[in-house]
Amino acid sequence: MSQQPGGRQRPGFPARLPSASPVQARKPVAAAPVARAAAPTGVGMDSSAVRMAMVRRLQAQGVAHPAVLAALSAVERHRFVDTALANQAYEDTSLPIGLGQTISKPSVVARMIELICQGPAGVAGRVLEIGTGCGYQAAVLSRVAREVYSIERLRGLHEKARENLRPMRLSNLHLLFGDGMAGFAAGAPYAAIIAAAGGEDLPAAWIDQLAVGGRLVAPAVTAAGRQNLVVVDKTPTGIVRTELETVHFVPLKSGVA
Ligand code: SAH
Repeated sequence: MSQQPGGRQRPGFPARLPSASPVQARKPVAAAPVARAAAPTGVGMDSSAVRMAMVRRLQAQGVAHPAVLAALSAVERHRFVDTALANQAYEDTSLPIGLGQTISKPSVVARMIELICQGPAGVAGRVLEIGTGCGYQAAVLSRVAREVYSIERLRGLHEKARENLRPMRLSNLHLLFGDGMAGFAAGAPYAAIIAAAGGEDLPAAWIDQLAVGGRLVAPAVTAAGRQNLVVVDKTPTGIVRTELETVHFVPLKSGVA
């Protein structure tokens, strides 16, 4: 297996999934890096005002989960894109991150994380993210979930994410290099799985690695041939699949590169 745990910590067993426990916002682990001196030109002297404006727009669009809003307010999206694009970092748009990939739109990140928070098991257990990319969504996730495993198939992006995330010191976030189509069995079962890349259908490994009470949120092609956001709940009596709105994610690919 090509997957290599990127962090020092290995998952403990068995996974504890207290299904009734409420979602809790993580306290910031360290003081947020001071934006004033370090913000790239184009974001302004202080990125927090423009970030708060982004969060208010997302709220106006219906994002309501307090922990998700707090995480979006805390994570400095401009640090995950090239300096030349930093002035667009708080617009609701996907942006190139290299190797033909994109950072997801903030509204899509918010929507997907809110959906997993609202699942029966919430995010009180482990969460697996497929497609680390630049690491932005992983950082947001790590502020709402207890433990996050994020896997990326492109080594260049896996390393870029590691660099982007290092200053944030998110001790509950584990970056993995490998093919996420196989999930990450060593960390299973997961309270939630979230995919940032879309294939024809959902790999069986993802469903297998979900805990009972767990929720998968991913883009997948529907019968109508469109890519839609799909929610899969693993209930005690079986799998419940719900198709939501049309989305535009980069393709889910197999193997590593
Ligand atoms: N959440 C990311 C989005 C990155 S785009 C962010 O915030 O930046 C989706 C990513 O999924 C790409 O980096 C792509 O390389 C990756 N990807 C596609 N197929 C994959 C697979 N099978 N396993 C792991 N990562 C995959």
